[in-house]
Amino acid sequence: MESYAGVVVDLPLKKIDRPFDYKIPERLLGKIQIGSHVLVPFGHRKIEGFVVELKEEPEVKQTREIYRLLHDYPLFDEKMLQLMKWISDYYQAVLINVIKTAIPTGIIGNKVRVKTRRLVRPNITQKEGLLWIEKYKKRAPKQAEMLSFLLKHPNLKLTAADLARKFKTNHGTVKSLEEKGLITYEEIAIQRNPYDAQEYKPGKPLRPTFHQYKAITRIIEAMEKRPGKTILLKGVTGSGKTEVYLQVIAKALEKGKDTIVLVPEIALTPQTVERFKSRFGANVAVLHSQLSLGERFDEWRRIYQGEVKIVVGARSAIFAPFQNLGLIIIDEEHETSYKQTDQVKYHARDVAIKRAKLSGAVTVLGSATPAVESFYRAVIGEYELITLPERVNLSPLPPVEIIDMRRELKNGNRTIFSKRLNEAIEKRLSEKKQVILFLNRRGFSNFVLCRECGYVIRCQYCDVSLTYHADINLLQCHYCDYHESPPHLCPNCGSKYIKYFGIGTQQVEEFTRKQFPYARVARMDVDTTRQKGAHDRILKAFREKKIDILIGTQMITKGHDFPDVTLVGVVIADTALYFPDFRSGERTFQLLTQVAGRTGRGEEQGEVIIQTYSPEHYSIKAAKNHDYDLFFHEEIGFRKEILHPPFSQLINIIIQDEVEKLVIEEAHRLANLFTKRIGPDVPIEVSGPAPAPLARVRGKYRWQIILRSREGELLRRICQEVMKIYYNEQKSSVVVSVDVDPIGI
Ligand code: ADP
Ligand code: ZN
Ligand code: ZN
Repeated sequence: MESYAGVVVDLPLKKIDRPFDYKIPERLLGKIQIGSHVLVPFGHRKIEGFVVELKEEPEVKQTREIYRLLHDYPLFDEKMLQLMKWISDYYQAVLINVIKTAIPTGIIGNKVRVKTRRLVRPNITQKEGLLWIEKYKKRAPKQAEMLSFLLKHPNLKLTAADLARKFKTNHGTVKSLEEKGLITYEEIAIQRNPYDAQEYKPGKPLRPTFHQYKAITRIIEAMEKRPGKTILLKGVTGSGKTEVYLQVIAKALEKGKDTIVLVPEIALTPQTVERFKSRFGANVAVLHSQLSLGERFDEWRRIYQGEVKIVVGARSAIFAPFQNLGLIIIDEEHETSYKQTDQVKYHARDVAIKRAKLSGAVTVLGSATPAVESFYRAVIGEYELITLPERVNLSPLPPVEIIDMRRELKNGNRTIFSKRLNEAIEKRLSEKKQVILFLNRRGFSNFVLCRECGYVIRCQYCDVSLTYHADINLLQCHYCDYHESPPHLCPNCGSKYIKYFGIGTQQVEEFTRKQFPYARVARMDVDTTRQKGAHDRILKAFREKKIDILIGTQMITKGHDFPDVTLVGVVIADTALYFPDFRSGERTFQLLTQVAGRTGRGEEQGEVIIQTYSPEHYSIKAAKNHDYDLFFHEEIGFRKEILHPPFSQLINIIIQDEVEKLVIEEAHRLANLFTKRIGPDVPIEVSGPAPAPLARVRGKYRWQIILRSREGELLRRICQEVMKIYYNEQKSSVVVSVDVDPIGI
């Protein structure tokens, strides 16, 4: 008999990430399982925890008893535990934090509960009731009337309050019936269903095009014959990827298999939900961060209890508690929002692939612009590649025009709109069409650019652009700590028009209003969408044509259909290009391609204008021609040359604290530990320590160390080893976080 349990407690102890053994008390024997949420004694306190092992003998002599079982059902099963352990190991996060990431927020600390209703039920037989009514109907008419009603409708779901209201009386009547033992209460669980009020028109499958048909057949075949397989579905915007998803989900459903669909949080709009709900109705649960804790918990329970077979959700929906998973779909798989950047730094795409392998499911990665890593894996045959080469309606992709902003300056135009963009906006406004002006959100990175020749100042060692820090008036490399003073003249052409470049959406809005005073202008970025629902409100107004020009960041590029947008202007493409990140070329290409996909979706041909100081950069050239292959070819060559992923693995370690001196000291101490352990023979490269690109966040100074190796497994093992030594010796209070496969560095 297994009368001991290994419990991980809710204390994120980096030094001792292991379960503690507890004795299972007699009364809980058989009830405690893997995944049970329990309360245990720990020191002088009682702490919540989760059972991760059951055993006959404890590892230590003295064990204490589990106090209490907090949920009468386990919150995860053996397979989910396996996945969580993998995440804990791969991403170097303590297991309790992984568990807290995977189960709904609020379970720990008991912030959410099952919502219940107490229903009134007759507690006597029909015959007894009628006798009672006969006898007392004069003396207690209200009670008799109520009881008679309840006997006639024994299955109505009415609470005491409902009844009192119905019979226009107060609680006393119900209470009297209860005291006489004539009625009783039944407690039932009810669901908070955020989508209850909405009605969805049932939708039928569309007749697939030739390419869709091929894609659907191949995915179904993989589900049948190649469990654990990953498929990359590469299809231009409007090529009908979603219809492919819908039809393969229908197949999974037919076979009794569950499906998880991940979409980027920002694309999880009512329209997206509608497409799935209208095809699969009540079989769909939706998980995203705008639901209340209670709503999220209830959706989670509907999945857990097998009431739904499909979940559509953002990143964390990858942990949906299905037991018979057949299919995982990741739409826009290249999206960086699939990577969690705080707490457990997992990438939902990689977790999905692992989960699919563990449960024999098939993963479908969909994108018009796959991540370089994903496409590379398809090229070398690790993933299966399926392409949808054309739009469903066969409309051509919009023409893209590149404007060389260096010329504008030469022609005396120093404003942020080129002559061409100005005229194009003017034209669209006079035709009563709509315009989107796009600006990259990552404007915080101020790089130094020559407006005359387009030259950008880079680190001579790392080949990433240097970032200008106004407070110290220095240009800084975030890979190696190299820094220099900003030059007064361009080192390339001698021009004095070299300065740091930072332009925000607000500036663009002001300028647009000045330039087109009669147009209705709106802005959509993090500042204007802070309020709940603001995002949808702006999009709705735009769709209803109450806005002529919408200025926005990434937010406007995802999954929205605006048939009347016939012009998209990219105000400045270079901000994405010169972000100090080895993926900046990839981001730029993806962004521009997504932006271009926003136009010309209706009847009319649209056009795209991209303003840039680097018209010859391959990312911009490839975006102009909607040419993924050209982009990939250039990019993969570059990655290979400087040994960046997918040819190596990276780990980024961030050290942060309010005291700068401590941060620098600890960063150096940790870097030394690494260099000492690694030595000359181990193929791992240590860069830094250097200030992080966001050198100060919420009052905390941040430094980073970057580890890189061709041999990922070795790298992760050594990192784990050294971090253990570091935590054991650590005396200072600095916070150190390890990020495996970081993005944005
Ligand atoms: P993607 O997800 O690749 O951007 P969608 O699935 O959104 O593409 O399809 C683009 C448009 O084409 C949608 O309006 C969709 O309803 C329509 N569509 C998709 N497949 C078909 C089809 N087989 N027949 C007719 N229309 C289709
Ligand atoms: Zn220059
Ligand atoms: Zn450098």
